[in-house]
Amino acid sequence: MAEKVLITPKSFKNYKLKAHKLLHEHGYEIIENNYGRTMTEEEIIAAAQDNVVGIIIGVDPLPSHVLEQCKSLRAISKYGVGMDNIDLKRAEELGILVQNAVGTNSISVAEHAIALMFASARHIPAVASGVKAYGWERTIGFELTNKNAGVIGGGQIGKEVAKRAVGLGMKVTIYDPYFKDQAFLDTYNVKREESLEEVLRQSDILSLHLPATEDTKGLINAQTLSWMKPTAVLINTSRGELVDEAALYDALAHNKIAAAAQDVYSSEPPQQGDPLVALPNFILTPHIGAYTHEAVERMAIVSTENLLSMLSQKDDSQ
Ligand code: NAD
Repeated sequence: MAEKVLITPKSFKNYKLKAHKLLHEHGYEIIENNYGRTMTEEEIIAAAQDNVVGIIIGVDPLPSHVLEQCKSLRAISKYGVGMDNIDLKRAEELGILVQNAVGTNSISVAEHAIALMFASARHIPAVASGVKAYGWERTIGFELTNKNAGVIGGGQIGKEVAKRAVGLGMKVTIYDPYFKDQAFLDTYNVKREESLEEVLRQSDILSLHLPATEDTKGLINAQTLSWMKPTAVLINTSRGELVDEAALYDALAHNKIAAAAQDVYSSEPPQQGDPLVALPNFILTPHIGAYTHEAVERMAIVSTENLLSMLSQKDDSQ
């Protein structure tokens, strides 16, 4: 029986021709996600039977019990960067190789973070929908130039955001305990700060670009929000779990910070009637940071090449 590869991300279909050709050339049969949405744990288990040796995974869940039931699985290739939906420890114990598509979407996500900064500073979603309703209400905004931008996480995306913010005339500080690229700081005139509290206290715009891990979940909470300026804006294009949403609701509803704009949420889509989503100073986009033609094409090709490379490593070692 031919070995099979399950491909779950919905947007993969936009650029699948080259990727499918590569997989077929290597003799793999392809199983696609035909649900038109993120797959559930049960659907993944059902699809990943009968000689499925590889999965190209989007944000669909791969916790330990799902991995344990995918008996022939040898490699998981993340279509994108964030791997918080995969139990990496259990995958390693089971001998399943895992790799992400580093840097494939950093420009797209960085551009979206900058777009959310402008959207918040100029209230674009609210005023533009006012005009659609034939209103003409003007809300005063603020300039980004000369403002302090705090970038939390100085990896692939954080650096692209920092470069663009410098280009806009912002004063940029990175907080990242693991950051080592002094040449980047020198080249782009970016500061590095060792204290998270200090960055939060000085930032006019705070942008999150770190992974959601056991250490970082809830990084933005009642205490850290209390360090921020009442005029500050929080931008989160990373993961919903980084922010305590009840604490953010309290901060926005009581003007402890001015606004927040996110591309990610604890449950995507959010529950009906979610009070945070209803707040006028909260903007939410439907996880579109990496959803551009350019990033989708790069993610499709690189995740396919990564999967083929992992499966061939396994073949060599057998
Ligand atoms: P990356 O691995 O290149 O960078 C992450 C950085 O975070 C690293 O430099 C790391 O040292 C730093 N970091 C880790 N723990 C930290 C902490 N406690 N405090 C501060 N910094 C810390 O990853 P990336 O490509 O820049 O992506 C960042 C995140 O963006 C991903 O983990 C993912 O969750 C999210 N993402 C979102 C979208 C989207 O569509 N909205 C798309 C891609 C990635």
